Amino acid sequence: MNTSQLREKFKEVFGVEADHTFFSPGRINLIGEHTDYNGGNVLPVAITLGTYGAARKRDDKVLRFFSANFEEKGIIEVPLENLRFEKEHNWTNYPKGVLHFLQEAGHTIDSGMDIYIYGNIPNGSGLSSSSSLELLIGVIVEKLYDIKLERLDLVKIGKQTENDFIGVNSGIMDQFAIGMGADQCAIYLDTNTLKYDLVPLDLKDNVVVIMNTNKRRELADSKYNERRAECETAVSELQEKLDIQTLGELDFLTFDAYSYLIKDENRIKRARHVVLENQRTLQARKALEAGDLEGFGRLMNASHVSLEYDYEVTGLELDTLAHTAWEQEGVLGARMTGAGFGGCAIALVNKDKVEDFKKAVGQRYEEVVGYAPSFYIAEVTGGSRVIAEVTGGSRVLD
Ligand code: ADP
Ligand code: MG
Repeated sequence: MNTSQLREKFKEVFGVEADHTFFSPGRINLIGEHTDYNGGNVLPVAITLGTYGAARKRDDKVLRFFSANFEEKGIIEVPLENLRFEKEHNWTNYPKGVLHFLQEAGHTIDSGMDIYIYGNIPNGSGLSSSSSLELLIGVIVEKLYDIKLERLDLVKIGKQTENDFIGVNSGIMDQFAIGMGADQCAIYLDTNTLKYDLVPLDLKDNVVVIMNTNKRRELADSKYNERRAECETAVSELQEKLDIQTLGELDFLTFDAYSYLIKDENRIKRARHVVLENQRTLQARKALEAGDLEGFGRLMNASHVSLEYDYEVTGLELDTLAHTAWEQEGVLGARMTGAGFGGCAIALVNKDKVEDFKKAVGQRYEEVVGYAPSFYIAEVTGGSRVIAEVTGGSRVLD
C-alpha cells in the first residue's frame, strides 16, 4: 500500500484528510528461539510484511480507530480520558495500551486522533503483527504530537503493552526487531544487556522463504508459560552451585558439568536447548559475517532439531514443513520460527529453486496435514517509520 492509497482509504472512512502516513514492519527470527526470556541471544530481521497507518490529530478528546483487517467492527471510538483495557474495544486495546504507557511515562497526549490501519501480516502466525501495531502507534504519536522518544523507550513501551495491558508474557525480541530494524541487516541482540549489533545480511543467490502452517497457535500461550516456568526452575536448581541469573549466561560445558543439579529430565532438555541455542546464535552470526551460508543453514537445521526434541514446541505441522524443506534441492537450511506449536517456519532457498520448493513442500504438507500452507518471500527492511511524501508518488522511508 502506498501513501495515496492510504490517504484515500482514510478519507473514505473519516471524511477528512490524513496528516501523515506510516509503516511498521513484521519480523522473523533467523535463529535464537526461546532465548529472549532467558537472557540469551537472538537474530531477528524486520520484514516488508507489516502494518500501514494513516492518522490525523483531532481537536477534541476522542480517539477513533478503524482497521481494514477488522472492517466488520467499523470505527471504534474510545475517550482519551479512559485508556483502561476493555474487552469490547477489541484490537484497539493494543493502541490504548501504548497510549496509556506513553502518558504514564510523562508524555502529553492532549487531544484525540483518527487512525486508519491496514496490515498484511497474517495475524497470529508468529510474525508478530501485534508488536508491529504497537510500534506503529508509537511512531504515529511521535509525529502527530511532536514528541521525541528514544527508540529503545518505544520498544519497551510496546513490550509493556503486550505484557501488562494485553497480558501476554513475551520477551523483548519482537518489539526490538520491529523498532530497531535496518535495511538489509539482521539484528544480533543480547537480551540480557540489550546490547545489539546490526549484521549485514548478504544471502547471495538465496532468499528466506516463510512457510505458514496456517494453524492458529492455540496451545501456544499455555505451553509458552509452561516453558518459561521450567526454565526458571532450572535456573534456581543450578543456582545451588552457580552464580547465574539466567540460562543465557552459561556456556555448554559449564551447563553440562552442573546439569546433575536439575532434578527432572524435561527441565534438563529445556535448559539444554536454551544454552545450545544461544551458542548456535553466536555461531550463526559469525557464519553470516564470514559469508558461510552453508554453515548458517546447518545451524538453522540444528536449531529446529533442538526445538523439536529438547524444547518440544514444534508439532506435526512445523515438523512436516522443516523436514520436507530439508529434502529439497537448493535448500541450505530450515527451521521453525517464533513461539512454535503452529505459526511459521523459514527456509533458506536458492532463488532458482523457489517455485519447485513451494510446490513440493506444499504438496507434502497437504498430504500429511490436510490443508495447504502459505508461502511468502521475506524481504528485509528498516524499522517502524513515517512514510516519506514525494511529489507524484510515495515511498517507504528507509
Ligand atoms: P501475532 O503473532 O500476529 O502477533 P497476536 O495474537 O499476538 O498474533 O496478535 C494479533 C492481534 O493483534 C490481532 O488479533 C489484533 O488484535 C491485533 N492486530 C494485529 N494486526 C492488526 C491490524 N492490522 N489491525 C488491527 N489489529 C491488529
Ligand atoms: Mg503477537
